[in-house]
Amino acid sequence: MPEQLSLNVAYLKPSETVAIAAETKRRRAAGEDIVDLSLGEPDFDTPRVIAEAGIQAIQKGMTHYPPNIGIPELRAGIARNLSLLSGGRPVNADQIVVSSGSKQAIFNACFSLFGPKDKVLIPAPAWVSYPQIVSLCRAEPVLVPGDAEWGLKVSVKDLEARSDKLVKGIILCSPCNPTGATYSLTEIRAIAEWARKRGVWIIADEIYRRIYYGDGPAPSFLDLPDELLEQVVLIYGASKAYAMTGWRIGAALAPIAIAKTMAAFQSHTTTGANHMAMWAAATAFTDERVEQDVQQMVAAFRRRRDRVVARFRKDAPGVEFVEPTGAFYFFFRVDGVAAGRKLTGTEFCERAMTAGVALVPGAAFGDDSWVRMSYAAGDKELDAALERLLGLIATLGAGSA
Ligand code: PMP
Repeated sequence: MPEQLSLNVAYLKPSETVAIAAETKRRRAAGEDIVDLSLGEPDFDTPRVIAEAGIQAIQKGMTHYPPNIGIPELRAGIARNLSLLSGGRPVNADQIVVSSGSKQAIFNACFSLFGPKDKVLIPAPAWVSYPQIVSLCRAEPVLVPGDAEWGLKVSVKDLEARSDKLVKGIILCSPCNPTGATYSLTEIRAIAEWARKRGVWIIADEIYRRIYYGDGPAPSFLDLPDELLEQVVLIYGASKAYAMTGWRIGAALAPIAIAKTMAAFQSHTTTGANHMAMWAAATAFTDERVEQDVQQMVAAFRRRRDRVVARFRKDAPGVEFVEPTGAFYFFFRVDGVAAGRKLTGTEFCERAMTAGVALVPGAAFGDDSWVRMSYAAGDKELDAALERLLGLIATLGAGSA
């Protein structure tokens, strides 16, 4: 680290997933035929009704500074949406802070709750930004490896084994990026009860809640009784389910004192989210026509998930993978795919890039025995990528590469 930089950025690394996507774009621009399955973003355009609400907001002059905490229409819309997803339970819009993507919501929450000498548990494999965000808060990220027999999820026993008095929080992602695994309500409850007993804060990242292949939305912390939510910050957003990654709208639902702190914090950093994007998002969370679009997109993700799983089962039967029940990621194990030697995820991804598919090595998520594929891609692209990848796995398995 150059010595003039502060300790705040002592552990700072650029996002690996963003770097791989940039490298893929560069190669494609240079004429290489590469299917990009590296980035976690829906291939769909933002539904028209939402985009039009954004355009109208501009035309109506919603181009001035917004209310820092979020426009009331959006906060109320998110509260109602969350309430509906959890069987009509009351959700208080005053506890909602809108921010520039859920990434900022997670940063706001961590910065408000964690600091020097605090430890934060992060079930691993974990989304690249969690450890980075915790380090930027000068707290210590502690990766807790999940159980390969159990979809790489962690149990209360795993959390307890890594805990000491310094542990102040846990960041839990379900449905999970990068694994696609989903915690059941029983598992969520067990973790919430454990955290309450220990006085540990939970950052519950539920950005993929709508993209779930069971019945209805994925199980949520909001399906728990109030007394288990006193130290929970729930993260939600528009990016994934509404295909709105570029609009940069996310939200946190937090106990009121924390919500106020997070709002005060962002009043000095971003002055809140983009004003017109908030109007578009208000439509996303409330308009019934949009609900149909969401359901269609989720149905498409489900079909692709089925296709990927079926092809791997048929053509690469020895390859272990996490049963994907949510989000749009397929996480498979590569350390055993090459005959006669152990392969890393990084090596596999280099081979895959040469074969014409961009993927993310598990190293980015804390375990380089695995590789993440995002199947949020068009059907034709996905089929082409599967041919190339399964071909590569067959060649590696035959020891001829
Ligand atoms: N959490 C998880 C688990 C994610 O995968 C992402 C996006 N890749 C985010 C949060 C951030 O999403 P956004 O800032 O677009 O809301």
